[in-house]
Amino acid sequence: TDMEDFSAIRQQFPILDQRIHGHPLVYLDSAATAQKPEAVIDAESDFYRTINAGVHRGAHELAARSTVAFEEARAKVARLVHASEAEGEEEIVFTAGATASLNLLATSFGNASMGRGGAAARRFALQPGDEIVVSKAEHHSVLLPFQELAARTGATLRWFDLDDEGRIRSDTADTVITEHCKIVAITHVGNTTGAITDLAPIVSRAHEVGAIVVLDACQSVPHMRIDFHALDVDFAAWSSHKMYGPTGVGFLYGKRALLEALPPASFGGSMVELAFMDKPAQYMEPPARFEAGTQPVAQIVAAGVAADWMMGIGMDRVERHEATITEELLKLGEVEGVRILGPRSAERRIATVAFEVEGVHPHDVGQFIDAQGIAIRVGHHCAQPVHRHFGVFASNRASSAVYNTPEEARRLVEAVGGVRDFFRVK
Ligand code: PMP
Repeated sequence: TDMEDFSAIRQQFPILDQRIHGHPLVYLDSAATAQKPEAVIDAESDFYRTINAGVHRGAHELAARSTVAFEEARAKVARLVHASEAEGEEEIVFTAGATASLNLLATSFGNASMGRGGAAARRFALQPGDEIVVSKAEHHSVLLPFQELAARTGATLRWFDLDDEGRIRSDTADTVITEHCKIVAITHVGNTTGAITDLAPIVSRAHEVGAIVVLDACQSVPHMRIDFHALDVDFAAWSSHKMYGPTGVGFLYGKRALLEALPPASFGGSMVELAFMDKPAQYMEPPARFEAGTQPVAQIVAAGVAADWMMGIGMDRVERHEATITEELLKLGEVEGVRILGPRSAERRIATVAFEVEGVHPHDVGQFIDAQGIAIRVGHHCAQPVHRHFGVFASNRASSAVYNTPEEARRLVEAVGGVRDFFRVK
């Protein structure tokens, strides 16, 4: 059965086979970072054991092999998000993480606003009167770079409000996104609410007014079949470490024509065709133009293996498996004194469930749960506005991945059921 297959998949994660405080580890913090299968761990060390060398330079054989492995990783990641379907139309840029991808964009748009990149880059330029649209559900790594960009260029920051379940009010797209809007930066899946954004009305309205759509895909790529091409977003950012790959690597997807027009954000080696003393350098084509400096090649190669590993399971199956965990996690809502901060039904959401235990501080909840070997996240999850929306400063968050079982989710629900008794709130 599929459940047996997933039990075999789980066995590929060595870290999960241990006891914490005397209990078998239940890892429900994959929205923070996912654990790594053996294939990924091995890929990184095999690279160092066999082909480590700089890429795109040097005439020696190891450099050539390293370059092939590096570019193969790019192709694998492109396949995972269906970026390669229209050959040459889109591109994957390697970055240091989703935060770096988003900062790259905000910096490049800022550079374009100062006239860098010439006429081609003018479409990214912002000035007073222009608008940037985000949402109250954004992770700080979307909110802050674009808020800073607005401050630097004199543009105005606007945002989508959320409904009572924390869903982005896509139905208000026509009024939130005005004729003055130049950029819409929005999350695909809320890292606190687990809600999947209804993107279509946002993307179509943004394009109607000529705005660029930047998607934060951190919490969607690990959990569902993604086709950026079909979603028609212009750029997308996400991290390797949340999709079973190493830390220190992120991705920026972009439509090829846009990347070609986008000025670089960071400067250095491996990104220029020609450099001079007395006039500006001539930059390489994307993706190299955005990959200044020595790349974390071993980690990128292993990230490619992670993408392959996910496709090997099949993202539709991953989605179905994780839906069984969503069902169990949502039973948290039936525990007395527990409020779910996000959609209470399993539709259009992932198995990331934030909750509040009335009368008990999230840190106390986290510690009580940890004592039973269960790892969840507590705090504001780098998303303070969405917490403010729910009238709290912090929350508890359980988040799953392919290696979790419905039984583990049941263990969490049972443990949470004991919290208020333990702290004598009842
Ligand atoms: N956006 C979302 C929705 C996230 O969950 C995260 C990671 N917490 C980020 C952006 C930032 O990713 P990273 O820290 O890997 O750069």
